[in-house]
Amino acid sequence: MFDFLTQTLSGEPPAATTGQTATLDWIWRAEGILELSPHQPCNSAVVISAGIHGNETAPIELLNQLVSELLRGERALKVRLLVLLGNPPSMQANKRFVDADMNRMFGGRHARYVPGGETRRAHQLEQAMALFYRTSSAAGAIRRFHYDLHTAIRGSLHVRFGLLPLQTRPHGAEMLHWLDAAGLDALVFHRSPGGTFTHFSSEVFCADSCTLELGKALPFGSNDHQQFTGIRLALEALVSEKPLPERQADAPLKRYRVTQDILRSQEDFQLHIPGDALNFSPFPKGFVIAEETGKVFRVEAPEEYVLFPNASVALGLRAGLMLELERF
Ligand SMILES: [Zn+2]
Repeated sequence: MFDFLTQTLSGEPPAATTGQTATLDWIWRAEGILELSPHQPCNSAVVISAGIHGNETAPIELLNQLVSELLRGERALKVRLLVLLGNPPSMQANKRFVDADMNRMFGGRHARYVPGGETRRAHQLEQAMALFYRTSSAAGAIRRFHYDLHTAIRGSLHVRFGLLPLQTRPHGAEMLHWLDAAGLDALVFHRSPGGTFTHFSSEVFCADSCTLELGKALPFGSNDHQQFTGIRLALEALVSEKPLPERQADAPLKRYRVTQDILRSQEDFQLHIPGDALNFSPFPKGFVIAEETGKVFRVEAPEEYVLFPNASVALGLRAGLMLELERF
């Protein structure tokens, strides 16, 4: 049996592109796109993706481990499962992306970019997901989940957190319970649409979707897998439909909502958040977050927290998010 990650990094398909084990059928749909179906009927269609940013290796290794155990029959599969390694060329190069950030391109936004490897791949992943959810529904697996696994570029006051896409329906209780059990420290609720993979799966397929940020990006082999224990156990429970692990965390899960998208629209845009600020660093009311001709971004709430600050984004893109803590 091939190793999914090694095979994907080789750039070649496996000798056979379909096969079966005692308990499941598998189909290699394309490079880094593997579908696993249990022999018995099931209710859920689960997509787990990693490597949308190629240098975020820990979740790629984690996901590959899970796939290997399923293919070897060491773990029971009780859901239809689509496993995606998002951006193989950037994984080979150990870079976030080759030409452009793929996690801004979903929902057809790739058509607005200069055509390249990432625009083609984003389109291919969209189609693979559409095919998977459609065929799963036809087979009776009508509950849809999508977890997109990442690691953050910078340090963070919350090491593990989830980003939930804007949606008009409530976020699924089962997913929220799963995220808590996975030991995440915080959840961030978006309030505007975006080009992320999970916004796409939520909006187009009504999947319960969450982007998971699991610590900091390190090269292949250098990851401390200890800090991923909670998420590993939760993913194992998800695919095998076993009871969820008990939450292991020092504090209860915090919830934040996005208050401001800091968009860079002018050449003279200046971000006043220090370059080394950790994610979730607090700033007081009145603090000038950023300035450009015609616009000043200020902290409006008593306290706001910064997420993903990046002064060097291209015009029209997001230089950061500001958050407010939700209190119950
Ligand atoms: Zn990422």
